[in-house]
Amino acid sequence: MSADVVVIGAGFGGLSTAIVLARLGLRVTLVEGEARPGGALRSYTREGVDCPVGVHYFGSAAPGELLGDFLAVLGIRPALKLRRLGTGGVIDRFFFDDEIFDLPSTAEKLEVSLAARFPDAPGAVAFVMKICRAAMASLRTDNMGAASPGYPMLPMTRTAAEVLAEMNLPQRLVDILALQGFLIGVNLSACPASFLMMATASLLMSAWELGCTGAQMAEALTERALAAGVDLIVGDPVAGILVDGRRTSGVRLQSGRSMATGTVVAAIHPKTMVGMLPPEALPASYREGIGRLAETGGILCVAALLDEKHHPAQDFNLFRVRGDPSRRLEGVYGQLRPSGVPGQTRLTVLVETSYAEWGRWHDTTTGHRGSEYRAEKARRAQQALGEVEEATGPLHEPRIVDVWTPLTMRDWVGAPAGCTYGVKHSSRDGLDFLVLSRPPLPGLFLVGQNAIAPGLLGVSMGVLRVAAAIAGRQPLAELMARARKEAGA
Ligand SMILES: Cc1cc2nc3c(=O)[nH]c(=O)nc-3n(C[C@H](O)[C@H](O)[C@H](O)COP(=O)(O)OP(=O)(O)OC[C@H]3O[C@@H](n4cnc5c(N)ncnc54)[C@H](O)[C@@H]3O)c2cc1C
Repeated sequence: MSADVVVIGAGFGGLSTAIVLARLGLRVTLVEGEARPGGALRSYTREGVDCPVGVHYFGSAAPGELLGDFLAVLGIRPALKLRRLGTGGVIDRFFFDDEIFDLPSTAEKLEVSLAARFPDAPGAVAFVMKICRAAMASLRTDNMGAASPGYPMLPMTRTAAEVLAEMNLPQRLVDILALQGFLIGVNLSACPASFLMMATASLLMSAWELGCTGAQMAEALTERALAAGVDLIVGDPVAGILVDGRRTSGVRLQSGRSMATGTVVAAIHPKTMVGMLPPEALPASYREGIGRLAETGGILCVAALLDEKHHPAQDFNLFRVRGDPSRRLEGVYGQLRPSGVPGQTRLTVLVETSYAEWGRWHDTTTGHRGSEYRAEKARRAQQALGEVEEATGPLHEPRIVDVWTPLTMRDWVGAPAGCTYGVKHSSRDGLDFLVLSRPPLPGLFLVGQNAIAPGLLGVSMGVLRVAAAIAGRQPLAELMARARKEAGA
């Protein structure tokens, strides 16, 4: 068996790479270790309620915006039935110990609210709006600049904390900027300055959520991949990447099958990828550098049903912030959304928890962890509900339908230490380990949340970069332009 390209892993990164490359005329085989494609995208159902895993909300998905045009290239926009968030003017409501700050739905409104909140610091507000608008411009497809996440006053090699310290911003303004680190799993002190406004800017352009389930999104991508001619193999993980001399030559699957190819795109965790290669295939300094990269933290997720009379659904997110966000991000994220069950609202709560806290069950697998694990999950879920009450108000008879932990994430998508967003993208690791799209082995590429940044937007940036490197910048630009036209943009 042979292919022009073999893609390893069918999460959002692998599926979208396979679709784009197949649409550009390449023969692509996509290999997924689990029985069903989708990775972290795939939601699951408990007691009739769809419980999202890796897609809660996202930004810049309107036509002409980076994620919007990327979804058009993938051909899944209609299937997603996207719903706009923040129609009442608020996208995120941040609950600090001593005040509530609303992240508004547009840059203009943000400017007004920052000016009102920080009347003595007009220069600081002007600086924040300048970097915000620059980030927004870089997320427009016409400005794509090869999908580079950089903009001049915020270099990638400096941390956001360093840059902000020079600007003498009021502490609370720094805290507000620091909060988006929760979405990419990195604190301000490590966050590359160029990432600083990305998540916020993308939400200010246009904030969305799925109108379908995560499982349906995974199915829509799979259908599009098959329709584009992708050869999909499921339930047979890649065990090894083959190397012939100094370039990739194929992959070997767990079943023993192998496939010849000159180009392998790993859409998995980089530590897993390195472990698939013969040791001599990569320079020792690279292998050790990847081995040293820190993981993003784990998450405990609680899904609960509430009576909609007491808790109507909202179209914004809640974040109860604890401690000092500019130094260490702690808190609890909550969403109140329609559940699909008549009369009930679904509450989703995400709270950080380290893998070590669940270490005693390290050697267990999902569904076989025993009663003590279930009791600990129940205790932590109650605690998380207690914390989110500081944002929702007192919860009236919540009924928990599911709880998952970093161990679930580890087993679900093979995330080392159950990390939520893969490796931490930290300025401290240096440029060679910040953008991981091009490992130092000809014919090998990395996409997915580990390549540049996590989230649908971060993954899209990495896929576009790798697709341009494999199939050429011009054909990719033409495909994007065609897809925009077809989508009526
Ligand atoms: C709790 C949570 C909440 C999130 N919320 C949001 C959000 O609101 N908005 C947003 O934009 N993003 C969000 N994200 C991030 C987003 O979901 C991810 O960044 C994105 O889905 C990652 O896609 P991926 O392809 O890189 O990885 P994955 O989805 O992890 O896919 C990797 C795939 O590779 C497969 N695999 C692993 N090893 C092998 C092997 N040896 N052979 C073959 N296949 C293999 C796995 O089974 C898996 O299917 C969230 C993530 C989490 C976990």
